[in-house]
Amino acid sequence: MAGGALAHRNFSYSRLQTFKQCPAQYRFRYIDHLKPTGRSIESFLGICQHQTLEWLYRERLAGHEVIFDQVLERYRAIWSDGWGDDIRIARPSWSTDDYYQLGMRSLAGFYRQYAPFKEPVAGTEQSLSFDLDGSGRYPMRAILDRLDHHGGGHWSIHDYKTGRRVLTPTQAQGDLQMKVYFQALLATREDVDQVDVVWHFLRHGLEVRLNRVEWNSKRIIGMLGKRIDQVREAEKRPETLEPNETVLCNWCYYWDVCQAKQGQEHPAQVAG
Ligand code: SF4
Repeated sequence: MAGGALAHRNFSYSRLQTFKQCPAQYRFRYIDHLKPTGRSIESFLGICQHQTLEWLYRERLAGHEVIFDQVLERYRAIWSDGWGDDIRIARPSWSTDDYYQLGMRSLAGFYRQYAPFKEPVAGTEQSLSFDLDGSGRYPMRAILDRLDHHGGGHWSIHDYKTGRRVLTPTQAQGDLQMKVYFQALLATREDVDQVDVVWHFLRHGLEVRLNRVEWNSKRIIGMLGKRIDQVREAEKRPETLEPNETVLCNWCYYWDVCQAKQGQEHPAQVAG
């Protein structure tokens, strides 16, 4: 099967979340395949930071020492290569430079915290396609920011967070996104005895970690299967996928086709 068709068939955490947050947005993105009219600067910044850290660990895996100036240089190059006039700022008090500097500060904090990067990295941006319950009915895909292998079946899954929100330990225990990654690891490897999960809140220089998680795999499979069933049911009647207006609309770039926003001007500004 062609990659595009497979990607469309596969369910991911972000696809399920989009459906939950706004069914209309889900329709525009995953059924109608419409191109959004803009990109939020927050998501652009997040991509730049992820790609910079991916590069950093690749360099380390190749046996190269990395000094912070090189990290900055890479960040700068990724930022300027990816920049486009479709990038928008929804927070009126923030400038493009504020975001750029925030990215630099976050990477500097990460560098200070983890240099010389001796973690036993098994892979970065690991794309895992898996069959949720072995029946073939629920194809899923997860992209892990980083996967470390400590040996003897001991793995740690790392997720870089670039937003403002930090998870509390209770929220971390219930985090569905990480559970999808956990399940992806279990489904794609046989040598898994112990899994630690780690969130890196880059903006705050904070790490939240759960060691030796004891998540119930059957329960995760059941919950995800149920959510996929709901989405598939709704997909049969796309006209019922209604807009759900929230503050997140300001970061959504489907206003031109969203019936809830007809005739309204998007509040975000073109980033300069
Ligand atoms: S503008 Fe709001 S309601 Fe409309 S599709 Fe986007 S998120 Fe949904």
